[in-house]
Amino acid sequence: MKKITLLGSTGSIGHNTLEVIRQHRDQYCVQALAARGNVDLLLRQIEEFQPPYVCIFDPALRDTLQSRLTTDCEILTGLEGLVEVASHPVDMVVNAVVGAVGLHPLLAALEAGTPVAVANKEPLVMAGRYVMEKSIAHDAPLLPVDSEHSAIFQCLQGFESRDVRQIHLTASGGPFYRCSLEEMRQISPSQAMSHPTWDMGTKISVDSATLMNKGLEIIEAMWLFGLELDQIRVVIHPQSIVHSLVEFIDGSFIAQLGPADMKLPIAYALSYPSRLVLSNTRMDLTDMATLTFDKPDCKAFPSLDLARQAARCGGTAPAILNAANEEAVAAFCASAIPFLAIADIVARTLDESESSSAYDLEAVLAADREARLLARAHIKSTSESYPPC
Ligand code: MG
Repeated sequence: MKKITLLGSTGSIGHNTLEVIRQHRDQYCVQALAARGNVDLLLRQIEEFQPPYVCIFDPALRDTLQSRLTTDCEILTGLEGLVEVASHPVDMVVNAVVGAVGLHPLLAALEAGTPVAVANKEPLVMAGRYVMEKSIAHDAPLLPVDSEHSAIFQCLQGFESRDVRQIHLTASGGPFYRCSLEEMRQISPSQAMSHPTWDMGTKISVDSATLMNKGLEIIEAMWLFGLELDQIRVVIHPQSIVHSLVEFIDGSFIAQLGPADMKLPIAYALSYPSRLVLSNTRMDLTDMATLTFDKPDCKAFPSLDLARQAARCGGTAPAILNAANEEAVAAFCASAIPFLAIADIVARTLDESESSSAYDLEAVLAADREARLLARAHIKSTSESYPPC
């Protein structure tokens, strides 16, 4: 029986992880669940999976949760609570929280020597070198859950890194693929949140709409697979059937295909190196009319180049990129800035911040803090002239 700690249990990845566990209760049990603030859903999950520990991130909700609990479990709160449950001895921590907040619990799990299924890409973007050093030092592997990275991981089984020429990360293109600049000026938060092929949380849906998600994934892939920036290509594949491809030095490609269902990469991370039977995940090849692959339009979607710029710079630059993006996405979701301002605010913050080559935790956290202050100042000045009428 594998003990699993699930951080971010009420989000989309959390929901899908519990569905995989529900289908394999003979192999997996839940040690801890952590959620930000959705008490109703968290209570239902506690009743069903009976974890001995629970963390509710918002401390103000502790008493509400306690008063409605019908099972015996210890409640922790805040970032300290997240770090504590992440450091408990378990077989795997699934890190599915959203954003930079996942960095400390990720490090706590690695320091405890626990393998981590990584659905939360921001810590790897911010502090990739530091995180990978921790993973190696504590012999605690990182298993990708991001569908593209799971695909690459699956394609690489049995091969050496010297066999790889480059990898191709597929991107659906998001809901505004082929939209004109004029159309993109009018995009509302709800339009940006409705993704054509994947059902995901708010932040990642907006990141997919700007293509920043793919930019963050480039940096994530550099660290997870030890690749150079120039070895990572992005290709637009609107059908979301081919989840990514590896191109080998002899010219061969190996791709991983499957339905656009996060239960597949989650199950592979949980059961690696074997596989789990999953219900309702069959795909009929004859249903696929066409699979297409296009070059991304980097003019319409400048976020991809911004991420490459930060990755090339290295050091604290990716932490600055990530912090500015998190702030800008939150402001867009609050209708404080227009859609096109997201990339603009990230670009200005990246240009005006002084990045350093340091990659230790203090340097990364300081860069994160300063970039957020700068991004907020840009958001404030942008929002004062918005909405335009
Ligand atoms: Mg992805």
